[in-house]
Amino acid sequence: MITKVSELVADLAERTGSAALTHEEACQLIRAQGTALVQLMHAASTLRDRHKGSVVTYSRKVFIPLTNLCRDKCGYCTFAKPPSHPDARTMTPDEVLAVARAGRAQGCKEALFSLGERPEELHAMAREHLGQLGYPSMTAYLRAMCELVYEETGLLPHANCGVLTRDELEQLRPYNGSMGLMLESVSERLLQPGEAHYGCPGKEPPRRLETIATAGELGVAFTTGILIGIGETPEERVDSLFAIRDLHQRSGNVQEVIIQNFRAKPDIRMRSWNEPSTLEMLRTIAVARLILGGEQNIQAPPNLTPDAYQMYLLAGINDWGGISPVTKDHINPERAWPMVDELRRVTEEAGFALRERLCLYPEYVRQPEFVRERLRPTTERLMDQAGLVKQEETWH
Ligand code: SF4
Repeated sequence: MITKVSELVADLAERTGSAALTHEEACQLIRAQGTALVQLMHAASTLRDRHKGSVVTYSRKVFIPLTNLCRDKCGYCTFAKPPSHPDARTMTPDEVLAVARAGRAQGCKEALFSLGERPEELHAMAREHLGQLGYPSMTAYLRAMCELVYEETGLLPHANCGVLTRDELEQLRPYNGSMGLMLESVSERLLQPGEAHYGCPGKEPPRRLETIATAGELGVAFTTGILIGIGETPEERVDSLFAIRDLHQRSGNVQEVIIQNFRAKPDIRMRSWNEPSTLEMLRTIAVARLILGGEQNIQAPPNLTPDAYQMYLLAGINDWGGISPVTKDHINPERAWPMVDELRRVTEEAGFALRERLCLYPEYVRQPEFVRERLRPTTERLMDQAGLVKQEETWH
């Protein structure tokens, strides 16, 4: 197998784009080891360099966990809380604004709204919260909070709230710079008892693919990605990456693909599962780059592999994602984000330049059809000719 993969990888140097890599080849490469893995990373890095040069980006953001009630029960989740939990809650508008203002004071440009999916379908507590706040659904409340944050602070909202219908996407669109939904995996197997997505109606792959496809039809720049180490096979990982590639080829709106690694935590159902190794991440990032092509933005979170994330640069990423000077990572609260100075040092040591971007990537923020009318004055004020943030602020 190693020889075969090695020959395949040696041939990659001659290739130029995503169309060159077949599904069968990707399934071989995702198991690359030894020298073949180094060659695979080299091929992926070379492809990234050809299209992105040496610039690596990040977005300065605050994280607004609007509600931690959720209808799903993902086996790896530590964010969602059952109503019986003392920390189960929905933020009030004053709390939302306080976090956004603190972020604004620290130079943030993005308000990442991350929340449980359709909690009112399952939990009376969520319906009570919404009743007290005066909204018929969490999506309606989210829309109002996106508007409030933008109008009061100028932060650009980016909502990540689970599967959405066309109507809901249209409702959220005017006040979202971009939106996101991790595909996670196209494997239906993961919905079976004992698997990561058992008890999660929102994690049915067709529904997630449909949300991303509909966002494409509506011209919403979209972030998605895969979660690795949640019980999927390497081949299913490749299936997920090809599904994302197909969606993007259809609508051109997938602005960023995240490769995220599962981390075990003491309070989750999957607490005793093995975590993917750093090499597993490197293989997956490199194969993702070769499937998705040199123009796609590929991100891996630095805080989930604190000792080795610099290596991701050598496997083909060109973005570190959202980094917050104000709020912890509510999805992985035990994993602090690196400071921007540290991220810059690590990035520069590997031979790259760190630049701040908006929640809309440069290639999207410069296309009027992807920038909502109400948000245009702010994006134009903040961005330079290249579509990156004009004046990067020192963050201490
Ligand atoms: S990962 Fe997301 S969808 Fe799954 S339980 Fe947690 S909040 Fe809900």
